[in-house]
Amino acid sequence: NKEAAVKSQRLEAIGQLTGGIAHDFNNLLTIISGNLELLEEQPLREQDRDLLDRAARAADSGARLTKRLLTFARRRHLAPAVINLNDQVRTMAELLRRTLGDMIDLRIQLASPLWLVRADAGEVEAAVLNLAINARDAMPEGGTLAVRTDNVVLEEGETGLEDSLKAGDYVRISVSDNGIGMSNDVLSRVFEPFFTTKPVGRGTGLGLSTIYGFIKQSNGNITINSEPGVGTTVNMYLPRCDEEAAQHDETLSLATEPHA
Ligand code: ADP
Repeated sequence: NKEAAVKSQRLEAIGQLTGGIAHDFNNLLTIISGNLELLEEQPLREQDRDLLDRAARAADSGARLTKRLLTFARRRHLAPAVINLNDQVRTMAELLRRTLGDMIDLRIQLASPLWLVRADAGEVEAAVLNLAINARDAMPEGGTLAVRTDNVVLEEGETGLEDSLKAGDYVRISVSDNGIGMSNDVLSRVFEPFFTTKPVGRGTGLGLSTIYGFIKQSNGNITINSEPGVGTTVNMYLPRCDEEAAQHDETLSLATEPHA
């Protein structure tokens, strides 16, 4: 699939560029925050302290922004562990319900048994929450949001997905809505950092690009099916973690368990 290959090269190049800038920028922010903290320890007039607080808050939100860019550029340090994605979804059910509000039905469909994956649990939850927020925004009049998990075996050449997706065993977690959907123009740009169709202040355009980076860094893949007026499904594929790796991980966590 040539178009997909060009697209993924393009995203790779954007990643290199933003990653470099974000990394340097993050270092500068660390210096700024560090010096602000030193200043805060000085005796200060009340109004100066107020200015300092504002500067510190701005530096903090800058740091959050660069962190997301670093995830997109796959330079972020992840904390992968062997997890069952069903547990992640179950833990989030209440938060998802609250996020979606009364107008949106939440349906959860979990395959059992589900293969294990090796991934950063916090990033998985952030990704699902982000997708749910996008889905909510796409269904202003209400609708249904479905979160599903299942085991998927991809055969060589069978995928029709992005070319970088290798054959093998994957766990898929998908988030579907029956909202406004996306045009092909929008769909072709959604993984670019800062691409958003939302009004200023509503969207950062970093949701899907952050998820893209996280999934790629986890050796997985992400695909989106969307049709205007019908809805959108985002599929995330994470490679199955084999038994041996799972055991190894368990040994590691036992070994690092603090002694009573
Ligand atoms: P943001 O949500 O801040 O705009 P994202 O990267 O998460 O940033 O999304 C980029 C764009 O992709 C959105 O502005 C929207 O146009 C489109 N989009 C994402 N998810 C959906 C969805 N579920 N339905 C319709 N459009 C979507």
